[in-house]
Amino acid sequence: MEKRELLYEGKAKRLYHCDDENLLISEFKDDLTAFNGEKKSSESGKGALNNKISTELFKLLEANGIATHFVKMLDANNMLHKKTDVILIEVIVRNVATGSLTRNLGIKDGTVLPFTLVEFDYKDDDLGDPKLNDQHCLILGLVKYQDELDKLRRMGREINDILRPYFEAKGLNLVDFKLEFGKDKDGNIILIDEISPDNCRFWDIESGEKLDKDRFRQGLGGLKVAYQEVLNRILEKK
Ligand code: 5GP
Repeated sequence: MEKRELLYEGKAKRLYHCDDENLLISEFKDDLTAFNGEKKSSESGKGALNNKISTELFKLLEANGIATHFVKMLDANNMLHKKTDVILIEVIVRNVATGSLTRNLGIKDGTVLPFTLVEFDYKDDDLGDPKLNDQHCLILGLVKYQDELDKLRRMGREINDILRPYFEAKGLNLVDFKLEFGKDKDGNIILIDEISPDNCRFWDIESGEKLDKDRFRQGLGGLKVAYQEVLNRILEKK
């Protein structure tokens, strides 16, 4: 499948048209950004690792009944996927308190939550991705109906129910993650974007080591080694 004109350039991916009008190609970039684009860097090979990790996780989710935009991995940095109308809601799923939950509510870092928390953030860089409740989503017209919000929450939980034990068996604690969804040409809500250490937090169960983008956010170094370790755990037959 050939790349055609550039449709959109985001912080971590470039999106291209291709020969099929129902499909797009995402090129995973090596660029790293944090704190709403205020901190920037680049790490050679990061894009390819995220493309491969996302490919494996989309395949796992599809095999477990989750509808995703994934079609196939084209080469090291490029993924072919369905075109959707993007829903501008970031669905944040949390098992353990850290990051903005700790900052905003003062829950002690590392506290295991009594149940899985699903939150919505507005996907809007100019506003700094603020928190949304259901009424905000409906007033902003991000979705039309309450049952679409219920579906986003349900899919977030279902995805967590697949990924959390999967990673636990590989010695990784899936602390939290961000999902994005879109509507396909038939109006079905499907999982889009990527699932990688750029938008998930993984803590090694034995050592507590962070194997995700917090290494960049917190200036810990060793980002590529950490992402490679996540991929190795995914690929190991266990
Ligand atoms: P927090 O709200 O604590 O910053 O993030 C919660 C989880 O969602 C983390 O796994 C984080 O990586 C992910 N996340 C939240 N917002 C974004 C975002 O705008 N971009 C990316 N890549 N991940 C996000």
